[in-house]
Amino acid sequence: MDDIFNPKAEEAILVSLEKLHAQSTTYPTLPSPELLATGSSSLVPSIASTKSEQDVIRHITGDIVPALTGQALSPRYYGFVTGSSLPIAAWADTLVTRIDQNVQVHLPHQTIATEVEDRALRMLGELLKLGDSFEGRTLTTGATGSNVLGLACGREAIIEKRGGNVGEDGLLGACMAAGVSNIQVLTSGGHSSLSKAASIVGLGRQSVKELGVSADEPWKLDIDVVEKHLQKEGTATIIGISAGEVNTGRFAVDGLAGMKRLRALADKYSAWIHVDGAFGIFARCLDNMADFEDLKRQVEGIQLADSITVDGHKILNVPYDCGMFFTRSQSTLASVFTNPNAAYLAGGSASKISSPLNNGLENSRRFRALPVYATLLSQGSNGFAAMISRMVLLARRVAGWIRASEQYELLPGGDWNIEKETFIIVLFRARDNNLNDNLVEKINATRQMYVSGTKWKGEKAVRIAVSTWKVDVERDGRIVEQILAAVAEGRDFEMAQVK
Ligand SMILES: *Cc1c(COP(=O)(O)O)cnc(C)c1O
Repeated sequence: MDDIFNPKAEEAILVSLEKLHAQSTTYPTLPSPELLATGSSSLVPSIASTKSEQDVIRHITGDIVPALTGQALSPRYYGFVTGSSLPIAAWADTLVTRIDQNVQVHLPHQTIATEVEDRALRMLGELLKLGDSFEGRTLTTGATGSNVLGLACGREAIIEKRGGNVGEDGLLGACMAAGVSNIQVLTSGGHSSLSKAASIVGLGRQSVKELGVSADEPWKLDIDVVEKHLQKEGTATIIGISAGEVNTGRFAVDGLAGMKRLRALADKYSAWIHVDGAFGIFARCLDNMADFEDLKRQVEGIQLADSITVDGHKILNVPYDCGMFFTRSQSTLASVFTNPNAAYLAGGSASKISSPLNNGLENSRRFRALPVYATLLSQGSNGFAAMISRMVLLARRVAGWIRASEQYELLPGGDWNIEKETFIIVLFRARDNNLNDNLVEKINATRQMYVSGTKWKGEKAVRIAVSTWKVDVERDGRIVEQILAAVAEGRDFEMAQVK
């Protein structure tokens, strides 16, 4: 055993991953169009074109890797909300591949894999200050996967409270038995994956209702209107809370008072509260500094939800694919996901750890918990507080620069306080409409920074989402500002000329 997985050899892998990251601060954020074309035309046409393993490696490193994005390596990949991988997480992930462990059934006499998973999820719950009541926990493929679990559990629970059982009888039969003619998902600034989840679990994309307070603040949930919708006859409700909203990074519910009010309403009307905290929940890990007081106040109360989505491959900075799902109702999770009647799959029945196959979509799956465990163990609460504060401070620096610039307009409009309200996302547009039309393409054409396009009040806008551990506020702030200045002035950007 010692010869195969010895700490020295493993440390050498970690060191090589650290070196890769240290050398890669100017790694192109996007490949050039030429490399994309070369990579694409290098792909072999069919299974008949086999190569030796050496040639396979040469082909993949020489043709394919250069035609992929630098999202893990560049500190300036700000599209979507992505994250990179901490070297320790990437190292653990290579081990997961080599050890190829199936985490399906809790088999305490054969492997501690499920125990590691349980411990990793508990530690994450500690990091996010969720308290002890989230007894249903599992790892998913990402926040979309977790949102599917959230709506599936919500659907199960709200129909069960009215006398139906979706897991056993299916949605149609259970709704008939329960006298439910309509299921709605009430949200504000809901992530697109919430609608996808609604489709998957049989509610339909149309069941998702946007109840933002106004066109100026569409992310903010109008709780008075939620209450009206809850009162509809024959209707069962899931409340989907965006924490935070993906275009602005803002939070649907402003802190504990709002969450308490929603909790009381959900209890009164037998509704389910699901929080999509994919990236925003990590505001709870920030230090108790005045700079972050306002953000931390806004995410107080998330622990009052029935279920919570957390993403692993974003701010937690572990590799794809990794998300987490927490619910206070383990029994609901089991009602939905129980994989029945396979005697050979039964784990230790007396155990406190339930078999993952009864808690999520997959039966067989990857040992996703190990990189999470490794990352939490090596960073601790302090490491995450420091890492996330770098992301926030870079976003605030860039937001301040944009607001002060003549060519760009910071969104949402109004004179809100950047130093209080900006989390990790910066939304903006060019004041000049011609420039704004192609702004995303022009920024991304530098290949040294990547942003996503979006819409704000019907017009094109650009989004910067900072979520990689690699950001350096000073260095990347300067580069981003000089890229934006060059684009606004129609100049070419040269990394070598960055001052
Ligand atoms: C990214 C994101 C999702 C989807 O997550 P995946 O990990 O891409 O599946 C869902 N909700 C929010 C708020 C997100 O930011």
